[in-house]
Amino acid sequence: MQSTKALTPFEEVNLFYDQAAERLKLSSGVWEMLRRPWRELRVQVPVRMDNGEMKVFTGYRVQHNAARGPYKGGVRYHPQADEEEVRALASLMTWKTALMGLPFGGAKGGVQCDPNQLSLGELNRITRRYTLSIEHLIGPNRDIPAPDLGTNAQTMGWMMDAYGQIHGYTPAIVTGKPVELHGSLGRDSATGRGVGYVLTEAAKDFGLEVRGARVVIQGFGNVGSWAARLLHEMGCRIIAIGDAKGAVYQPRGLDLQKLLRHHTSAGTVAGFPEGEAVTNEELLELDCDVLLPAAIDNVLTGRNASRLKTRLVLGGANHPTTPEADAILNDRRIPVLPDILVNAGGVTVSYFEWTQNLQEFRWDEDRVNAELKKTITSAYREVYQRAQQAGITYRQAAFEIGVQRVARAAELRGFI
Ligand code: GLU
Repeated sequence: MQSTKALTPFEEVNLFYDQAAERLKLSSGVWEMLRRPWRELRVQVPVRMDNGEMKVFTGYRVQHNAARGPYKGGVRYHPQADEEEVRALASLMTWKTALMGLPFGGAKGGVQCDPNQLSLGELNRITRRYTLSIEHLIGPNRDIPAPDLGTNAQTMGWMMDAYGQIHGYTPAIVTGKPVELHGSLGRDSATGRGVGYVLTEAAKDFGLEVRGARVVIQGFGNVGSWAARLLHEMGCRIIAIGDAKGAVYQPRGLDLQKLLRHHTSAGTVAGFPEGEAVTNEELLELDCDVLLPAAIDNVLTGRNASRLKTRLVLGGANHPTTPEADAILNDRRIPVLPDILVNAGGVTVSYFEWTQNLQEFRWDEDRVNAELKKTITSAYREVYQRAQQAGITYRQAAFEIGVQRVARAAELRGFI
């Protein structure tokens, strides 16, 4: 495959989309329509900082496709959250919700900022201003935001409140809310739990023993930290974990209780005394059974894919693998289970949260987890079977299923 260095994240995702569209023989009009976002909004987010000065941030909401239901997708606070990245992530949500069979389309939002440099008050004010700027585009039956990188349940509480000041009490406007504000039990752990359910199924197909499997995790945010805890409970040996500040390696397996305590006080896994310090580049190339990139995008690339020493890659973050890396790993026969499957636990429980809010009813956590397991396990089975039958990669199979469902919905709506 030719070098894809010059491609933007959105162009990279579209390489995967184009392959699916071609195999599905979509007509050129439908192909084009599903390729581009339906609607995009860029807004200024002027905010009074704690020191009294005004700062202007840039925010986005990209609504990619709603053929199968209201737009759905997170809001990311990150310095790199620009137009092209948010577009890429919005389109991934379209294919993800379709693959999981959820009655949603795909969207993504973002504010270009570094949340680590902002106080709680500043984050609150950014969130309220951003919500007011996109308020006319969102709604429980139009577009339902959720947390993503750099945002969390608290951010969703602020969004719900800001929206409610205009529209009245509307808990179904966002998902991933605090449980005390009608968030769903099990939503916080859902993405990590989904990773565990996928691994449980995949282990059977790839001859892996979950008990004792050596796992390397990049990222210790919502996805990475929950995945670490839950995979550890399943009997995996978590041998290395990294975050933005550094990584730690312990071949005997990290003591997660102690690591969590260290993380709480130090704000990073780096510097954990019971392990060897490694860089993030070294982390990804460690000898392991399962590699879970669960932080940012584009970490498995043409540069390091030939050096990975893992038996299975699980895409925990959104778009962690470039098309170049995907091709190299495929040549090396290292299976890559795609992010739109592996990290779909979050949006799946978002769907359950939305449902509970609309019904004004609460599910217990066992029900949430059982329904999540059923949904993500059957999506995994569909992807696995399609890949085996068609002789294509798991990513190609996942995109094909998603794209096919969206194209069919568009056709049945009668606008094509
Ligand atoms: N941000 C998560 C994702 O990328 C969750 C989105 C949602 O729950 O709507 O899948």
